[in-house]
Amino acid sequence: MYEGVVQSLIDELGRLPGVGPKGAQRIAFHLLGSDPADLRRLAAVLVEVTERVRFCRICGNVAEEEECRICRDPRRDLSVICVVEEPKDVAAVEKIREFRGRYHVLGGAISPIDGIGPEDLRTRELMVRLSDGSVTELILATDPNLEGEATATYLARLVKPLGLRVTRPASGFRSGGTWSTPTRSRSGGRSKDGGCLMSSAPGAHDGGSGDGWHPLAQRVAGQARDFLDGVGALASGEGGDEMVPLLLLEVSQILLAGAQLGASKDVIPPGNWEPDVGADPDLDVLRGGLAVRLAGCDEYGDLFDPYADSRPTRFRLSDDLAAVAADLIHGLQHYEAGRPLEALWWWQYSYVNHWGTHGGAALRALHAIVAHALLDVAEEVTPG
Ligand code: ZN
Repeated sequence: MYEGVVQSLIDELGRLPGVGPKGAQRIAFHLLGSDPADLRRLAAVLVEVTERVRFCRICGNVAEEEECRICRDPRRDLSVICVVEEPKDVAAVEKIREFRGRYHVLGGAISPIDGIGPEDLRTRELMVRLSDGSVTELILATDPNLEGEATATYLARLVKPLGLRVTRPASGFRSGGTWSTPTRSRSGGRSKDGGCLMSSAPGAHDGGSGDGWHPLAQRVAGQARDFLDGVGALASGEGGDEMVPLLLLEVSQILLAGAQLGASKDVIPPGNWEPDVGADPDLDVLRGGLAVRLAGCDEYGDLFDPYADSRPTRFRLSDDLAAVAADLIHGLQHYEAGRPLEALWWWQYSYVNHWGTHGGAALRALHAIVAHALLDVAEEVTPG
């Protein structure tokens, strides 16, 4: 703690985003050591900003007058609105100089985990702008992440009754994508970059299926199918002596898919969730095949809860792998029924609650077997 005004300065700096207590202290002492003239200039700018800058009453962009420079510009196309999250996104699109319409700044994105819902964004203001019929096209350029996708999906549904042309840029302007093809995604075409979350339009043809989430759902669906194919083949006798290392690979890869889901923000379950899209699969054949093929190393001991019981509980790799398969298949059923958002939600939910634990335990057991085998071999070949 420092005396009076120095501590106040540190406290104020510490409230800035990305500045921790140590950073605040460092900046404060940097400022105190600077030329007083520099400091006065900084202070003057801060005062000027608070007094002069406000938000455009039309679009929500930063402005020095009641309306921003873009909204005042008579050359802008009044029939197109590009929806973005923050004023800095306006600047990013303007830099590319291809968009001639106007903007609508939402002031963020829908994020249930942070408690931000549609009512916290400037959605009502957007609906007011659209109500007189002069706007015929809406471009949803929210960020290429899950929150941005959720927001775009929400807005696409909200404006659907208005019959506008609704598009979503095929690739994010932030990630270096081109701004010149904002309508390409209408047909649901995917970008070449498989890693880009922003490749299909949660637009006019969405039909409530949550197409905006489709790329991530599609990726996880592919990983789930690979896992099921691989483990199924091993259960039926393929793989020979390499059974355990191949299983280790399969489990590692599906846990990577799980980690992608775990590292994503909450997938918002669709309102019209359809819990039953077919009978759950009978996995006894898979389980039995794995048990037979793993023979002596199917069962393993693990400390289920090291605090409650010091004796390891017995588990079976075949049970763990069947449990992972069951959750993946359940999601795939939703996915294949054309409901990717449901699938994604299920995969994420069940990863956190169920199959991530089984997969993690199986990974440890398989790793122990592989390590044991490799270390034994290493000992044998050691000369002397
Ligand atoms: Zn404006």
